[in-house]
Amino acid sequence: MLPVILVIEGSEIQARMIGDRVQKDLGLEVWSAKNLEGLEDLLHRAQGRPLIAVSNLILPDCEPGQAVDMCLAEGIPTVVLTSSFEPQVRKELLKKQVADYVIKTSSSLSELTAILKRLVHNAQFEVLIVDDSRLFRQEQARLLKLFRFVVFEASNGVEALAQLQAHPEVRLVLTDLEMPQLNGLQLTNEIRKTYPKDKLAIIGLSAYADDETSAMFIKNGANDFLRKPFLQEEFNCRVQQNVEMLEYIQELYLAAYQDFLTNLPNRKHFFEAGGQKLANRKAQCLAMFDLDHFKQINDQWGHEAGDAVLCHFAALLKEQLGERGLIARLGGEEFAVMLDESLESARPLLEGLRQKTAESALLWKGQELKLTVSVGLTLIDGQSLDAGLSAADKNLYLAKERGRNQLVG
Ligand code: GH3
Ligand code: MG
Ligand code: MG
Ligand code: MG
Repeated sequence: MLPVILVIEGSEIQARMIGDRVQKDLGLEVWSAKNLEGLEDLLHRAQGRPLIAVSNLILPDCEPGQAVDMCLAEGIPTVVLTSSFEPQVRKELLKKQVADYVIKTSSSLSELTAILKRLVHNAQFEVLIVDDSRLFRQEQARLLKLFRFVVFEASNGVEALAQLQAHPEVRLVLTDLEMPQLNGLQLTNEIRKTYPKDKLAIIGLSAYADDETSAMFIKNGANDFLRKPFLQEEFNCRVQQNVEMLEYIQELYLAAYQDFLTNLPNRKHFFEAGGQKLANRKAQCLAMFDLDHFKQINDQWGHEAGDAVLCHFAALLKEQLGERGLIARLGGEEFAVMLDESLESARPLLEGLRQKTAESALLWKGQELKLTVSVGLTLIDGQSLDAGLSAADKNLYLAKERGRNQLVG
C-alpha cells in the first residue's frame, strides 16, 4: 500500500486545507482529486493502492456517494465528509461500509486528522474477539477491520487464552459473557493474572439486560463494558477510547523510562529493571562503557556531532547486546549492560562490541568521525546494583588508565 492519503473534494480551498493539515499532522503524502473524473484518473495512474481516502459525499460531476463507492470498490478504507446528518444519510453511509464519517463543522478538520491518525496507527494494533456466536464475532471483526485493526478470533475463554499465547502482541480483548468452557468473567480473571490493565485492555460485552453484568466485568478486571446490540459509532468510540488510553500510558512510560536522545532505556529503567533481575537472579555480570575522548568530538565538531556519535554508539550497543541483556544510557557518554552470562562468555561479546565501535565510523558533514570505547566488567556475585556498578566503574577507570579502547574485568 502507498503511504498516501487520497483527498477527494470539490472545493479547492477545502482540499488544500485538508491536504496541508494531513501533511503537517501525519507527515504523509497527499493526492487530491476534485471530482469523480479526477479520481478515476488518479486511481488509473497509481502504482498501488493509497492507504486511506477522504471523500466528500457530494461532488460536482456525479451522484452523491459515487466517489466513495469507487474508493471502497478499490479496497481503500474511506472516511466521508458530509454536511448533512440526516438519519437516512447516516444509514446509507454505514451500509456502504465506510470507515467513518465526519460532519462538516468548525472543528471537523481536527476531528478528521484524529480519525486518520488512528486509522494509520490501528494497522499495528492487535485485537482479540472472544464470542461463542459466530455472527457477533463476524460483526465485530467487520467493524474492527474497517478501522484497520489486526483481528484474531476465539469462540470461548480457553481458545482465547491459546490465542493470547500465540499472539503476545494483542493489546485489546473484547469478550462476551456467556460462553462454554470458560466464560467472559473467568477469562478476564485469568488474563489479569499475567496482563495488567495498562498493558492490555479488556472490554466485556453482553446482551444480558441486568445491570450487574457490567459491575461484575469491571470488578473482575475489565477496563470497560458495552451492551449488545450496539451502534457502530458506539462500538468504535468505546474501542478507540481504550486504545488511546493504552497509548497515552505507553507515551508516559516512554517519557519516564526512555532516554530522549538515543531512545535507549534510561538510568531510571536500568535501576528498576536491573533491581528486578538481581532479585530474580537473572543477571550474572555487569559492564560499563565510556566513550573515549568524547569531549574532543564536541570541541572539534560541535555538540550536534557529539549527539550523533552518542546515537551511533547506542545503535551499535543495541544491535550487539540488545537481545542479550538489559542495556541503558546511564548519562552523558556512559552506557551499561547487565548480562546473564558468565565472565568467560561475556568477555567475547563485549570485546566484539569494542572492536566494532573502533572499526566503525560516523559520516558527519562529509567527514568520517572515529570513536573508541573503554569497558569495565564485573561479576555481580550477590552484590547490590550500586556495588556492582561501582566495581564495574573501577575496572572502567583502569581501562582508561591503561590507554583506553580496551576491556578490563
Ligand atoms: P575520557 O576518555 O576520559 O572518557 O574523556 P572524555 O572526553 O570522554 O570525558 P569527559 O568526562 O571529560 O567528557 C565527557 C563530555 O561529554 C563532557 C560533556 O559535555 C559531554 N556530554 C555529556 N552529555 C552529552 C550529550 O548529551 N551530548 C553531547 N554532545 N555531549 C555530552
Ligand atoms: Mg502477533
Ligand atoms: Mg565519562
Ligand atoms: Mg568519556
